[in-house]
Amino acid sequence: MLEKSIAALLEEGRKNTGEEVRVRGWVRSFRSNRFVALNDGSALDSIQAVIDRERVDLQTLRGVTTAAALMVSGTIVESRGREQDIEIRVRELAVLGRADLRALEQTILQPKSHSLERLREQAHLRLRTHTFGAVFRIRHATSFATHRFFHENGFFYLHTPIITGADAEGAGALFNVSTLDKKNAPLTRGGEVDYRRDFFGRETHLSVSGQLEAESGALALGKVYTFGPCFRAENSNTSRHLAEFWMVEPEMAFCDLVGDMDWAERFIKYVIRYVRDNCQRDLAFLDARQARAQSKKPARAGSEMGLLQRLDFVLENDFERVSYTEAIEILKRSQPNKQKRFQYTIDGWGADLQGEHERYLVEVHYSAPVIVFDYPARIKAFYMRLNDDGKTVRAMDILFPEVGEIAGGSQREERFEPLLRRMAEFGIDPRELDWYLDTRKFGSVVHSGFGLGLERLLMFVTGMGNIRDVIPFPRTPKNAAF
Ligand code: ATP
Ligand code: MN
Repeated sequence: MLEKSIAALLEEGRKNTGEEVRVRGWVRSFRSNRFVALNDGSALDSIQAVIDRERVDLQTLRGVTTAAALMVSGTIVESRGREQDIEIRVRELAVLGRADLRALEQTILQPKSHSLERLREQAHLRLRTHTFGAVFRIRHATSFATHRFFHENGFFYLHTPIITGADAEGAGALFNVSTLDKKNAPLTRGGEVDYRRDFFGRETHLSVSGQLEAESGALALGKVYTFGPCFRAENSNTSRHLAEFWMVEPEMAFCDLVGDMDWAERFIKYVIRYVRDNCQRDLAFLDARQARAQSKKPARAGSEMGLLQRLDFVLENDFERVSYTEAIEILKRSQPNKQKRFQYTIDGWGADLQGEHERYLVEVHYSAPVIVFDYPARIKAFYMRLNDDGKTVRAMDILFPEVGEIAGGSQREERFEPLLRRMAEFGIDPRELDWYLDTRKFGSVVHSGFGLGLERLLMFVTGMGNIRDVIPFPRTPKNAAF
């Protein structure tokens, strides 16, 4: 007897007509005491299993309810319904896991659709919905395509540590890691917590980025990437920030900022293409879902494209590349700036771009993904390569419609002395980063990299409006129950 995933059976369709099969999954719906929609999570769609009441005893039949787990065996037959090609005429049925009917009533399952916010409070139900099934299958495909892209292009996957002592990166607020007894922490003579007595003999925290370690990897292995969780104690409760998120960070030796932009654009397009080709059913579902949501909202510039259209648009067009200085000129001359409709008016060079400015560039001015490069040194990190003008650094941000910043990168400062000067400007003690500075002493070369937030990319690919809805167990301020 065939035992196959429901995805495979539906894919093969009528080819298997007449075959005996066995499938296992959970009941999506049960109607007329006869038709079970069975879903095993392998695909968005369920298979219809038609129960022959003569063959199933009443006791077993009672266990067939929404959410229960079943094993059914029977024959694949052509379906008379218009909804599906095939169905299973059940000969044998076993209830593998019953659903608690009282609990079920309280959570009011199928077929009503639940608000995404409510679902975040119900982990068991959330993962079984169509929407989240689609999102997490796409999340898998995106991660897989990430590894495939880098592997095919000669990058090595470098595991950088989650617990680190380097606190100079300045990428965000830190979560401390300590085994000291909080009520009885040893103190220094100055009255501060004495971390020399802590587990690692120093202050440590969860990593905000694997970049500095990846740099030393690239200067040995050539091309590396990290892909792991990052932690930032961002206290802003936005729809684009998580306290725990997954970042993809490639780092390439012998590569300048233009090369960095090329890699980033190729990578993003490769992943979108992979998902476009391999997750068609899930994307079609999310596309329709978004169209429904969109029709209820007032029309807004840039929102007339459907999800699939937007993915194709990105695949078919080059990203616009514009220097920070040019971007400021465009923004200064823009209607919303002249009419004081930006919350932060742009009146000169040097200010950081706010979300509203990024969205104007992407959604109104260019109507395309935009890479802004050569930012003022003052508003960027210490490790970015200083340009000859002495006031800008070789940094880039990749901006996407709806999502805003999807990746940030730079050519790194490979020269020892200028790096030391930049650290001093930022008040960073070189002794804290001696291991990093050492890479600049032994055959340092031009190198570059970027960090792409997996969840930001997923927001774009799935069209989900809130970053919490593209990660299975979101971590945000005041929220880490499960
Ligand atoms: P933002 O300005 O959006 O807060 P950032 O400039 O602080 O981001 P970087 O330090 O450049 O972010 O990190 C690289 C990438 O990591 C970002 O482009 C983004 O895709 C992602 N990222 C950063 N912070 C978060 C977060 N809190 N949650 C999810 N993704 C994030
Ligand atoms: Mn950034």
